[in-house]
Amino acid sequence: MLVPGNDEDIDGFLYRDEDEVVIGVNRDRATVRRRFTIAHELGHLRLHEQGQVHVDRGFRVRLRSGVSSEGTDWDEMEANRFAAELLMPIDFLRDDLKRQEFDLADDSELRVLARRYGVSTQALAIRLNGLGYSIEVVTG
Ligand SMILES: [Zn+2]
Repeated sequence: MLVPGNDEDIDGFLYRDEDEVVIGVNRDRATVRRRFTIAHELGHLRLHEQGQVHVDRGFRVRLRSGVSSEGTDWDEMEANRFAAELLMPIDFLRDDLKRQEFDLADDSELRVLARRYGVSTQALAIRLNGLGYSIEVVTG
């Protein structure tokens, strides 16, 4: 399938026509990133009427503003939110946080929880912040 642009930049894409839907993911990316990409493309599929091919290059967020790197692209933000909700269901997270006394400012504990959900620590931190848990976003 021909996707415009440089393949190495691409995280994933969604292709659809009357007969089929194809989600592509860059196999050179880390597992957590591939999982997020697939969930993000599912978000586009479920929520958005777009053209035949939608290509995604990166899912960076500006943590202060919560605006996606694509500027003010609402669709990208919605697809990111869909992915976060799919990969980190609120009921599961609340149960996990209730069951154990997590020190959410401790990045090793965040890492353990992130691993359980198959997401990056950053994605988990953003999700928890979005749910009203006040934590530091850990990088690196
Ligand atoms: Zn997208």
